[in-house]
Amino acid sequence: SDRSDRTLTGSLSSSERTALLERGDSMDNGDDPGGQSWQRANSISIALREWDIPFEELIIGDKIGSGRFGTVHKGNWHGDVAIKMLNMETNLDHQAQLQAFKLEVAMLRKTRHENLVLFMGACMKQPHLAVITSLCKGHTLYTHIHMRKERFQMNRTVIIASQVAQGMGYLHAKGIIHKDLKSRNIFLESGKVVITDFGLSNVTKLCHGNRKGEYLSIPEGWLCYLSPEIIRRLQAGAQYQEIELPFTEASDIFAFGTVWYELLSGEWPFKTLSPEAIIWQIGKGMKQSLSHIQASRDVKDVLMLCWAYASHDRPDFRILLKHLERLPKKRLARSPSHPIQLSRSAES
Ligand code: ADP
Ligand code: MG
Repeated sequence: SDRSDRTLTGSLSSSERTALLERGDSMDNGDDPGGQSWQRANSISIALREWDIPFEELIIGDKIGSGRFGTVHKGNWHGDVAIKMLNMETNLDHQAQLQAFKLEVAMLRKTRHENLVLFMGACMKQPHLAVITSLCKGHTLYTHIHMRKERFQMNRTVIIASQVAQGMGYLHAKGIIHKDLKSRNIFLESGKVVITDFGLSNVTKLCHGNRKGEYLSIPEGWLCYLSPEIIRRLQAGAQYQEIELPFTEASDIFAFGTVWYELLSGEWPFKTLSPEAIIWQIGKGMKQSLSHIQASRDVKDVLMLCWAYASHDRPDFRILLKHLERLPKKRLARSPSHPIQLSRSAES
């Protein structure tokens, strides 16, 4: 396995290598007449070693839960950490798995933002592939909204959404697409937003637990975050596992819209529909009706911008932040005609 470490970049396909280099790893921005990119790729390989955490150094505690990655454990490594153990398919090519994993770790190490979970390192030796991040305190937005049925006042809602947009805007600036933005991956830590699980989707495609026999299983509350162009790809097929879903910055924006909807309404869009119906409706460009949401025009406009059918009609996070900043923060909280905003506040 030591050897595989050294040959990480050596065995990447040229497109993977290019991807690695284009995502900001390059030392210089000039043209690269061969050779140099190789050296740079090599230096990434060396840099990655600094983020390699020996599995033996981890103290693995209680299981917190499981998701697409496999299982998440509470643990200790110089303090409390979350350990995401990747549950790889054993019948797949090990080298390919390891490379996909390292490619994503190479990106994670560059994420430094207040509203992103702290990446601490990874166990990069088979069979113990794991990602180590700081342990989020507090609850996810999912827990606040859907489990505890809490509602935030409008000013809090805007602050939360703005922090999500800031963290996401940073990721996009770094060339990282989240691909799994959802209320389950947004923690509130003493009022501060912490986004988790960005940029690990190549790996999760290889993980157990995503499939039920031949089919990719569809987790509850997942479809409603998927943009029409992604949903249409799902429609295309019985063999979901072979489909490369076309995630982009714009599909992250669509998912952000769904989070905004959850914050406003306390529900998921299309909550009463079957997965088949959701796939059909979103694919065709149908949108969840907003008539039951007691909010002003500009609040709903943000939603419509994010949920635009054509991906190029969706704004980027910079523009969204401007829209969010302009929203009147007090209006709804003050008005007695909007009881949804007056119910129990979830502020901690
Ligand atoms: P999902 O995001 O779909 O809930 P995950 O595999 O990401 O699935 O997470 C499994 C469980 O572990 C969830 O309850 C999640 O809230 C929790 N979890 C994930 N990452 C962290 C973290 N960094 N700190 C604390 N809890 C976490
Ligand atoms: Mg998660």
